[in-house]
Amino acid sequence: MKNALNSKVVVITGASSGIGEAMAKLYAQMGAKVVLGARSEEKLKALTKQIIADGGTAAYCATDVTVAEDCKRLIDRAVGEFGGIDVLICNAGISMRAIFDDVDLSVLHRLMDVNFWGTVYCSKYALPYLQRSKGSLVGISSVAGLHGLPGRTGYSASKYAMTGLLETIRIENLKKGLHVMVACPGFTASNVRFSALVADGSQQGSTPREEGKMMTAEQVAKIVARGIARRRRLCLMEAEGRATHFVKKFAPAFLDKMFYWVMSKEPDSPFK
Ligand code: NDP
Repeated sequence: MKNALNSKVVVITGASSGIGEAMAKLYAQMGAKVVLGARSEEKLKALTKQIIADGGTAAYCATDVTVAEDCKRLIDRAVGEFGGIDVLICNAGISMRAIFDDVDLSVLHRLMDVNFWGTVYCSKYALPYLQRSKGSLVGISSVAGLHGLPGRTGYSASKYAMTGLLETIRIENLKKGLHVMVACPGFTASNVRFSALVADGSQQGSTPREEGKMMTAEQVAKIVARGIARRRRLCLMEAEGRATHFVKKFAPAFLDKMFYWVMSKEPDSPFK
């Protein structure tokens, strides 16, 4: 794989866990200067220390992506430390599990605040630097951002909203050399299902799926790096993502049934 990340400044939100953490480690090994954002300052501090001890270059900034000023501080930190930004990866995200009949509206607001508005704020503040470097703006969406995922209305809606935002930024910047990529992992072993919000807004605290049978965060990090190197628009990961993208074009009603069937098989599924 061509190493497009060597000596590049890469800002990653949601870097304290899962896919974000795996990208931070891998991209630092590939020679990137990584700038890490998330709310858990202690985890970011420890990860930064580990990356530097392993010979990499890293900085961090405690960031709640739902707070615009925090996102500005993260971007300013990257520019202050390393002089610019080549890649912004909007990865911070949360999920949910409840049917629309039951879900408290605050859950949908929270999903939009983290997944969509977090992407808006970081993209907005990083854009001038990304335009200058003709760099990459990347959103970590989901297969749920390709087709509605039952029990995850707010999640799918927030990922579709990210796609609309990023696609439009891409077109507006068509003549400025900016690369914009929407990456769509399928189920990936991480903390995301444990922290997912249920109908009343509390955290699920467990996973309804077999985490051991999923892709690993490290695999996703590698595929995203390849997508950046090839300046792809859409980065699909595995059979699930590719099949969803393809079948949606030709047999969307069949895909509805498949998604219903697959998700209704989860233990304690909120629909049967
Ligand atoms: P994790 O729960 O392991 O990681 C989520 C990251 O987001 C954490 O670093 C968390 O850090 C951060 N985060 C959550 N809320 C905020 C906030 N308000 N401000 C800043 N950071 C925040 O999940 P994943 O690694 O799986 O998820 C990463 C991305 O991948 C998400 O966008 C998710 O939707 C997407 N994805 C995941 C899939 C999966 O099956 N795992 C499948 C498809 C897409 P902290 O709590 O410290 O703030």
